[in-house]
Amino acid sequence: MLLDLNHGSDFIYGRPTQGEGPAARINALIDAALTAEREHTPPRDYLGASRIGEPCARRLVYEITHAPPDEGCEVDAAALRIFEAGHLFERLSARWLRAAGFDLRTERRDGSQFSFSAAGGRLRGHIDGVIVDGPAIGIAWPALWEHKALNAKSWNDLVKRGLAASKPIYFAQVQLYMAYLEVETTFFTALNKDTQALHHEVVALDPAQAQALSDKAVAILRAAESGELLPRIAAASDFYLCRACPYARRCWEAGA
Ligand code: SF4
Repeated sequence: MLLDLNHGSDFIYGRPTQGEGPAARINALIDAALTAEREHTPPRDYLGASRIGEPCARRLVYEITHAPPDEGCEVDAAALRIFEAGHLFERLSARWLRAAGFDLRTERRDGSQFSFSAAGGRLRGHIDGVIVDGPAIGIAWPALWEHKALNAKSWNDLVKRGLAASKPIYFAQVQLYMAYLEVETTFFTALNKDTQALHHEVVALDPAQAQALSDKAVAILRAAESGELLPRIAAASDFYLCRACPYARRCWEAGA
């Protein structure tokens, strides 16, 4: 006799669970727990380097002033699971790099993350690590280390087009890190979440880009402090970035 161990669970592999069965109830409990955890985490009171490459400065003002996103656009549990999984993939890649002989430090001696703070603490960044030595691969150490775990489509695009063209937000992030931490090279690692394949890219500091990003950060912080909104990135709400923006309703219903 064959037993269906999945019988009645309403679980179908590869598909989100729906309905009222045990699997749907388990997932609802997990999502509620993660959402509650997030609600108890104080929001950032600073502009993070990881966001400075966001093309719309007005959106960044909304973010750092903690404007509530439009209804239905809040960060959901699915996104929280993806964020947390990203940290686990990062630890895996770090282990593999160390096994290959790279002296990768992901925390200071006191256990804290490598970071910078500027503008009285209103602009900050936390780098994933620093490689202080390693095999002779044509890189002068030290190099900052930044890691991202990407889905296959996003990873393939990165491999094809490079960081600056494919992932300008990550490119901006590492430019700001290099400028403020005074290290001229970043070793960027991207893990393909579907296959665990790794891609590495060496990114050099571009002082002009870093200065422009720093100036942008100052403009955003000034606007936030004075209660102003910066200009919209587009002239109409059907612009592709606005269609994906969690503040679109708030933004386009505002006067200016
Ligand atoms: S809706 Fe468009 S213009 Fe407004 S904040 Fe979002 S991205 Fe910027």
